[in-house]
Amino acid sequence: VAGLRHVRNPIDLADAVRVHSDHVLLTGDGAETFARLRQLPLEENSYFFTDRRLRQLENWRRRQTAPAQESDQSLENREKSQADGLGTVGAVALDRRGNLAAGTSTGGMTAKKYGRVGDSPLIGAGTWADNMTCAVSATGHGEFFIRYVAAYDVHARMLYQRLPLKAAAHQVVMRQLKHAGGGGGMICLDRQGNVSTPCNQNYMARGILTADGRMKISLFMDE
Ligand code: ASP
Repeated sequence: VAGLRHVRNPIDLADAVRVHSDHVLLTGDGAETFARLRQLPLEENSYFFTDRRLRQLENWRRRQTAPAQESDQSLENREKSQADGLGTVGAVALDRRGNLAAGTSTGGMTAKKYGRVGDSPLIGAGTWADNMTCAVSATGHGEFFIRYVAAYDVHARMLYQRLPLKAAAHQVVMRQLKHAGGGGGMICLDRQGNVSTPCNQNYMARGILTADGRMKISLFMDE
């Protein structure tokens, strides 16, 4: 689902579209009508406002009008402002029967244009799950993940090249996307429970929870 303004839990709505309709992707008003019919919780649009995100938008606006010499273009600051613009949450899961699932939810990128759809709701771009290979949920500069059909590409490399998860995910994120200028990363899981979380930027918050209850959380990529 894409272009929502009132649906509290978009992944629940995406799942409802999957299970209760003949379609794959619903957008905007139509998607919200479907949410209403399925009796999923809706909120005032202001429910989704946060001070942090409003500040990010303000900062972005200020950067647009700042004279060139004043805007700080150091790599560190560029990366920081890129990371500031990202706020996607994703999950991948494997159950005891070997079923893989993936979900991705986002407000999109700061200061995106009206009507813009990112990679998160597009199956194959920012989200993918196939019991034969892997489940993938991505975060980053969505336009690149769409152009390179990034999540599906991990699956395809595993299926056609017989690559293990780690090599496939690494090739997509650290070579393909990185060389194209597409900053971001992904969390990936295969049917054996192997995990790979490549990211070509400094920071991607991520956690792993295994069946025995062990939990591992990391933030920076050198951790
Ligand atoms: N991938 C998202 C988008 O392009 C942004 C993000 O990951 O935060 O909409």
